[in-house]
Amino acid sequence: MDLVFNTLLDHATRLREYLKAAAEGISLGEGIERLRRLYNVAKTVEEREVLDWHLANLEFSNAGCLSELSLAHWDQDDQYEMGGDHCFLAGGNARLVHALCDGVPVLYEKTVKRIEYGEDGVSIMVEGDQVFKADMALCTVPLGVLKSGSVLFEPELPVMKLKAIDRLGFGLLNKVAMVFPHVFWDEEIDTFGCLNKDRSKRGEFFLFYSYHTVSGGAVLIALVAGEAAMEFEKVDPAVTIHRVLDILKGIYGPKGVTVPDPIQSSCTRWGGDPLCLGSYSHIRVGSSGADYDILAESVDDRLFFAGEATNRAYPATMHGALLSGLREASKIRRASESRVSDYKKYALQKSLRHINGVLDDIFMEPDLEFGRFVFVFSYITTEEQQAPGLVRITLQKHLLLPSKNHNVKGDQKDKEPVAKKIDQEVFHLYAIISREQATELMAGEDDKSRIAFLCKDLGVKLMGYDSTCDIGSSLISSILSTRKARKRLQLQKNFKIPL
Ligand SMILES: Cc1cc2nc3c(=O)[nH]c(=O)nc-3n(C[C@H](O)[C@H](O)[C@H](O)COP(=O)(O)OP(=O)(O)OC[C@H]3O[C@@H](n4cnc5c(N)ncnc54)[C@H](O)[C@@H]3O)c2cc1C
Repeated sequence: MDLVFNTLLDHATRLREYLKAAAEGISLGEGIERLRRLYNVAKTVEEREVLDWHLANLEFSNAGCLSELSLAHWDQDDQYEMGGDHCFLAGGNARLVHALCDGVPVLYEKTVKRIEYGEDGVSIMVEGDQVFKADMALCTVPLGVLKSGSVLFEPELPVMKLKAIDRLGFGLLNKVAMVFPHVFWDEEIDTFGCLNKDRSKRGEFFLFYSYHTVSGGAVLIALVAGEAAMEFEKVDPAVTIHRVLDILKGIYGPKGVTVPDPIQSSCTRWGGDPLCLGSYSHIRVGSSGADYDILAESVDDRLFFAGEATNRAYPATMHGALLSGLREASKIRRASESRVSDYKKYALQKSLRHINGVLDDIFMEPDLEFGRFVFVFSYITTEEQQAPGLVRITLQKHLLLPSKNHNVKGDQKDKEPVAKKIDQEVFHLYAIISREQATELMAGEDDKSRIAFLCKDLGVKLMGYDSTCDIGSSLISSILSTRKARKRLQLQKNFKIPL
């Protein structure tokens, strides 16, 4: 049946070539079914079940029902597929994410509700009415969240983008993870499948992943794809686990293997999770790869977009999401460079330029320093614990260096940045903070927990260079004048009247 399935897919490709524009309105599922009938294949119950298993596998990789996928464009990214073996990362992909986050302040549990953007920059309102202001913002919420409208944009996003958000598909795929007391399945295999008699349930626990070699425990993951993924979310997890165990017993019982009860289990609910509302994107009937490019377009050089659903070449993948972030980082850098040069002209006209230099200068003589933190305060006597001040936090950013001798093909120019080398550069964030708060911060275990304490517990807002000069201009002046006063006092103390 493997051959029959692959032949049907080949014929589906020929069918769309033959149909040309008419293929735009047909789903992959409809195309395959027409061809199956035409060639009269998969007639017996067993053959039909095996074919359905392959179709479920296709629904899994596309996170969508075949009846939704576009016959014309569903596989438009195939040409970019990367070479090399598939492998599991020992310890999980989170290790990669944590390494990338190192030294970057990430604030969790801040659900964005509204994004306002315009000439003056971007304001991001999160649940609880906290507002973050910035020159530019990068939006990486999943396509499902954009579709739901749970994040309001003011002004509304351009119509072209809204239409692309609507057209592209955002499908569902779920997992059941189970930890068993021991490995009872064949230790040598990474995956095994299971056929389903009911066509509408062909994606229900159709594939099992064995993670015992990478997770350090006897872990099995059961996948749920297609229509079954949606039904799955309506069922009580306890019922689901029983159903998975019944399937495993059906496979291993006849081999004389006893299937133990799992020690721990967990069911995903990506469709019902308000921060996902699905799993990943696919090309729905009526959509095309161009919609990924539209989703990637920035708005007024203020609002930028990244995430898997903005990457035409590598959608629905982690590497696609990562590459889209690098792409946007270089776009943001370009936009900020041109804004800085405009700002410099403006700042010169307004005689504001000196304040920028002053911000660098005042940190040359810090009042307090530890880890990545440097402080300057506006105080005259050491008793003034509430004295306000500024903290400068030194962070590292990963930089994408453009390749010098890479030949970019004409139509590939704007698709992906060319990652030749990832390098690091330091940058600074600033915040307004009192001496008392700084002392509390010093007690933190390490810089990571200090950054979390600063933002979460103290509710301090981190700012870039320009905002600090803007918002903190009177504080900067006050720091300078109190510093002078302190020096005068010190001189008086040191001055001894000769007898
Ligand atoms: C079951 C499953 C299996 C997969 N298997 C693979 C695989 O084997 N290989 C592979 O490469 N890819 C795989 N993927 C796809 C991959 O995980 C995604 O493509 C990738 O994680 C997308 O990254 P992203 O940054 O675009 O979105 P996400 O990782 O979804 O990140 C979006 C973030 O936005 C946050 N967010 C949402 N709304 C708000 C809001 N209002 N305010 C603040 N934050 C918000 C979310 O909490 C989330 O942290 C799989 C996905 C699933 C679901």
